[in-house]
Amino acid sequence: MNEQTMHAVVIAGGGPTGMMLAAELTLAAVDVVVVERRPGPELVGSRARGLHARTIEVLDQRGIADRFLEAGRAMQVQSFAGVSLDISDFPTRHNYGLALAQSEFERILAAWIEELGVPIRREREVTGIAQDDAGVEVRLSDGRSLRATYLVGCDGGRSVVRKAAGIEFPGWDASVSSLIAEVETREEPEWGIRRDQNGTQAIGKLDDGKRVGVVVTERYAGQSGEPTLQELSQALVAVWGTDFGVHSPTWMSRFTDTTRLAATYRKGRVLLAGDAAHVHYPVGGQGLNIGVQDAVNLGWKLAQVVETTSPESLLDTYHAERHPVAAHVLQTTMAATALTRSDARIDAVRSILSELLTMDEPRTRLAGAVSGLDTRYDLGPGHPLLGRRMPDLDLVTATGPLRVFTLLHDARPVLLDFREPGGVDIAPWADRVRRVEAEHVAVWELPVVGAVTAPSAVLVRPDGHVAWVGDHAGAGLREALTEWFGRPTSA
Ligand SMILES: Cc1cc2nc3c(=O)[nH]c(=O)nc-3n(C[C@H](O)[C@H](O)[C@H](O)COP(=O)(O)OP(=O)(O)OC[C@H]3O[C@@H](n4cnc5c(N)ncnc54)[C@H](O)[C@@H]3O)c2cc1C
Repeated sequence: MNEQTMHAVVIAGGGPTGMMLAAELTLAAVDVVVVERRPGPELVGSRARGLHARTIEVLDQRGIADRFLEAGRAMQVQSFAGVSLDISDFPTRHNYGLALAQSEFERILAAWIEELGVPIRREREVTGIAQDDAGVEVRLSDGRSLRATYLVGCDGGRSVVRKAAGIEFPGWDASVSSLIAEVETREEPEWGIRRDQNGTQAIGKLDDGKRVGVVVTERYAGQSGEPTLQELSQALVAVWGTDFGVHSPTWMSRFTDTTRLAATYRKGRVLLAGDAAHVHYPVGGQGLNIGVQDAVNLGWKLAQVVETTSPESLLDTYHAERHPVAAHVLQTTMAATALTRSDARIDAVRSILSELLTMDEPRTRLAGAVSGLDTRYDLGPGHPLLGRRMPDLDLVTATGPLRVFTLLHDARPVLLDFREPGGVDIAPWADRVRRVEAEHVAVWELPVVGAVTAPSAVLVRPDGHVAWVGDHAGAGLREALTEWFGRPTSA
């Protein structure tokens, strides 16, 4: 069968970021294809172990959070410097994180995108690209090429797309190297966590009760690539004085604290998202989360540009909004990585931080950032809601009670009008923006910020962030609608 070779968007890489972006584009009826190296959605070995609250909210905005919640375990996953950051007092339905292996996360996401009908070309790699004014030629490992109006590199930390597009990846080289493995041992290992001058080590039972999961820091000496069983044994001996008779690895991998951020998230018709745009040590467990949130920020913007509803400059807001989020995560993880080590001085810093984090303000500030619930895009001065995530309020509408997130299931913008019936007129955008008259009963409260004045209307983007907050006169609404959702149809 001949495969279609021209697409509006080609996504290189069908990991968490690529799949989420493909779903967002498909919801917006954009012709998209994913090119993925792996033969199937199965992910060998362990990577991410959980989701943070904002990622759960984002999935809830698309109506699929329950699928993940049923497969994982809700718990307080946020931490810094070894101190748990409890968010059970945060005003959100998801005031917790989710313990869920990345392999499970990807399995559930893959099932959803299959339902949506996203085409995936598997067992093929993107090997090179050439872009011109009209589009991008995407060369594949099977000798064929695809042609796309836009190409998004979601192909992980070693992104071929990023390199081929000539996008710089500045940052910091590794100082720590860790081995992660699933093995068997002849002797009972020392279960639990151990800290030393190199970092934090952990040994735990895997779900089958037989195999053992190991994370051990090795002395960093510039090594890279896949580790050997001998290297794992040496690293275990260096920490515990024995390798516990380690044998029969079913999976082994190496990761470092290399910390890098793409200089730009877009070069012409090529964009980057997820690990292709930012890498860091996994402490704090944020990589997958910010990748998924990159995808949700980019999807609707790219869809509108492809459909020519919005000018290409809308894509620059993707870099403007998401680059600072990753830069902040990189800073936090570098600090957290330093605190995974143990010696008298670092222990002293950790002890002072632990004390500070028992205080409400430092805890909520840090937890707001780690959970992603306090992400604010800089959309200028104004009401505290502007640029922040819209809370999932209970609304009362003419057709009955409704949650705000339910209105976002189809990834379309919504104007919520809390004024008199017929308050604001958005007729020239009615083909793109849904207007819902509603009442709300609860207090408006934001994580970290606290209670805020109830607005008379809000314009909510498909990613759930607030683009405009209304006053009585509706000042600035036309400008906001034009900026985010294109020119009025009558103009
Ligand atoms: C040990 C460890 C623990 C971690 N723990 C956490 C955690 O608890 N929480 C968290 O949020 N994050 C964690 N992370 C980070 C998380 O795994 C990554 O941030 C996440 O996988 C990034 O998703 P992605 O889709 O951007 O990239 P990837 O998951 O790397 O996906 C890229 C995809 O592209 C494919 N691909 C690559 N090159 C090509 C090509 N040229 N052509 C076609 N396909 C290609 C790959 O096969 C892959 O499927 C951890 C990472 C590690 C290593």
